[in-house]
Amino acid sequence: MSNVIGDLLRHRARLSPDVEAVVSPTVRLNYAEYNTVVNQVAHFLLQNHVKKGDRVAVICKNSHPFPIIYLAAAKIGAITVAVNWRMKKEEIRYILEDSTPEVLFYDSDFDQVLPLLEENLVPSHFRVGDGEDAATFEEYIRDQPKGEPEVDVREEDPALIIYTSGTTGRPKGAVCTHANILAGSIANTTTLDLRYRDRFLFVTPLFHISGMMFMIGSLLRGSTLVVHSQFHPLNIWDLLQAEKITGMMSVPSMLSYMYTAAKSQSKEIPSLRMILCGGSQVPEDLIRGMNELGYDVVQVYGATEYTGAITYWMPEMGLETCGSAGKAVYLTEMKIVDPATGEGLPSGEIGEVVCRGPLMFSGYWNREEETQKVIRNGWYHTQDVGWMDENGLLYVVDRLRDMIITSGEKVFPAQVENVIGQLEEVEESAVVGVEHSVWGELARAYVVLKEGASLSEDEILSHVRSRLADYNLHEVQLVSELPRNSMGKVMKYVLREDANRQKTS
Ligand code: ATP
Repeated sequence: MSNVIGDLLRHRARLSPDVEAVVSPTVRLNYAEYNTVVNQVAHFLLQNHVKKGDRVAVICKNSHPFPIIYLAAAKIGAITVAVNWRMKKEEIRYILEDSTPEVLFYDSDFDQVLPLLEENLVPSHFRVGDGEDAATFEEYIRDQPKGEPEVDVREEDPALIIYTSGTTGRPKGAVCTHANILAGSIANTTTLDLRYRDRFLFVTPLFHISGMMFMIGSLLRGSTLVVHSQFHPLNIWDLLQAEKITGMMSVPSMLSYMYTAAKSQSKEIPSLRMILCGGSQVPEDLIRGMNELGYDVVQVYGATEYTGAITYWMPEMGLETCGSAGKAVYLTEMKIVDPATGEGLPSGEIGEVVCRGPLMFSGYWNREEETQKVIRNGWYHTQDVGWMDENGLLYVVDRLRDMIITSGEKVFPAQVENVIGQLEEVEESAVVGVEHSVWGELARAYVVLKEGASLSEDEILSHVRSRLADYNLHEVQLVSELPRNSMGKVMKYVLREDANRQKTS
């Protein structure tokens, strides 16, 4: 037996055959059944000419076939390419051309995928999913052998490629090995204290690194993965109660809907120990509000390139520190460095967040140069700006690439956006740097007002300048919406291009 994903599942199936492994709206599998069906899919892949090192692309809603395909590919040393189904046709084409998978599993309701199938970008493709598609999935594997496939898989072999969300340009495929993923599952489950027979709910997309991690974390602890493709702010509380959920993953917008729903119909869910939330900064008020209702929110700060979590903030660290992203996960060293020199900085000073440990990814798919930009001297450079207090609590300030330097002064857009957000007429804003021949850059804010609200650009500018030094904001432009990528994150590079175009035209 070796330190690879397939062996972990085999071990868990032997140890806890009757424990529920995966639950979707239509299927419940215990670990013995799970391992068998994974083996059958592994044989199905081999029959379809998938060899060790080949890519298996998955464009699937949250349903039981997703973890089954991922584990089956891992058992034969193939690499799962977890594709974000919110992406548009052209983005998906780019990923398929870049990763050249041998097979593609897809949900038939994704209209944007269907035309791509006719372009023969992938040699074989198969429809999967929940509901009606589940039957098709069973068809594929009915006659396949149930025994373990015999492929020599090593811990240094790649197991997963996830394309980063592309807030900075073209997505890049982050490659994680079996060793990265297993280290990540140990680090996460240990730090979070995930336990045997815990029941973890995923309504956030499984194709995120958090989903791909928890699929393995549950094997490690013998816990149950409950997957649902739909998030309903009202029904979610019933689901948590009915499935006796002990923990779930969320993102700030989802948590905010859950909070609003919970305020009007708070439910007793004794099993629920934590609601994880991350992907971007979780508002402090939301954490405090949920806490007042009796729910513990755990904030996660992480990156695909670090196979998931880098830090966790938990309520036991003290509610007064809930603006922090928390402390580094197990197996991780983290420090703050001067972005220009790479020198370590003392606590309290702002710099770039860097981390290292066995969770650090192996590099970007076919992009050595890009890899060397982020892995330097053995440290993963997150390109996030932050500071650490004397107790090791990390405070994330902003993205390094979003930082603006104007006449030698540093402007952190997130700080300016927070001040703009204090105006009750404002829905949201994004601050970017515009090139300037004398000052280097100038800060410009793109601001969206709430429906029906009225406020002038000058009023916004003077509000900010009454609270922050003048160099923090030079220009304001009111817009009807901000450009977002398929993960819902604001694409600042689009705004930056727009600002520079306006300047030169
Ligand atoms: P791209 O690199 O293409 O811009 P991305 O950085 O959004 O994509 P992800 O790996 O999805 O790719 O997100 C990681 C980043 O998200 C982190 O580096 C950080 O900037 C931000 N982030 C994640 N969680 C948090 C959090 N709790 N607080 C603040 N920022 C967060």
